Amino acid sequence: MTLADKERGPADAAFYTDLAARTSQLTRRSHHVIDHGGFGCRVAKGQILRIGLLERAQIVDLCLTNADDPTEHYASGTQVALEGLNITRLCPIWGTPPNSRRLATCIGDTVVHRDNPSHTRDHGAHGAHCNPHHWMLYAGRHPDTCYDNLRAGMAMVGLGQHAIHDNINLFENCVLEPYTGHYFLQDSDAERHDHVDFYADVPLLAVLSLCPYGSGEAMDEDWRVTDIPVYPILVEVFDPSAGAARASSRADAIGKPSVES
Ligand SMILES: [Zn+2]
Repeated sequence: MTLADKERGPADAAFYTDLAARTSQLTRRSHHVIDHGGFGCRVAKGQILRIGLLERAQIVDLCLTNADDPTEHYASGTQVALEGLNITRLCPIWGTPPNSRRLATCIGDTVVHRDNPSHTRDHGAHGAHCNPHHWMLYAGRHPDTCYDNLRAGMAMVGLGQHAIHDNINLFENCVLEPYTGHYFLQDSDAERHDHVDFYADVPLLAVLSLCPYGSGEAMDEDWRVTDIPVYPILVEVFDPSAGAARASSRADAIGKPSVES
């Protein structure tokens, strides 16, 4: 039994599985259509953060921070060591020392994995985000990079750029090549309306970026000469403590970037 299995426990697995089955019927506390740049919001302990695709795959860089103490945040190295390179359903999301505890749990992941010779999978845990220096070095231009977007998202939750940390790469289909150790990615398996759900085991600040690398399908040479399309996402927060929604539909959120409460 790994440390992660011991921490998770069978009872917790049942709790998260039950919650996952009910998430879409729960009262939705907020929803936001994000079609460019960065975004940040608070997710109370016990609430569920859903990040969904509105058109097609889009790489989303996600920072998760303890809302009560921003010095505690997602720990990418610990995550990879304990859970592997990719995040999926029932995967704990580990935080930094000294607490080294579960900050969140991935309770939903609708992406249907298609096996391939490279053994890539969506939702990388390795923790990088692009920044202006990398884009200028490799592409010779400066789009709205994940660093820029995360900085804007951090500002939305009252934090500065120094709160940006190594992050999760949602809808990024990747692997570390076992012989060379090189990072490799290819087209995402995700499709329109796929989503990933995170249960907040502690009060969270969720800050994200729509990566200018878009769906991840652009060839390296395209970075220099083209504006790679960025596709919109829907960010929703569900509240189990508020019970089931009386009339909640996913469709009514699309196209309405508003906050309900
Ligand atoms: Zn990026």
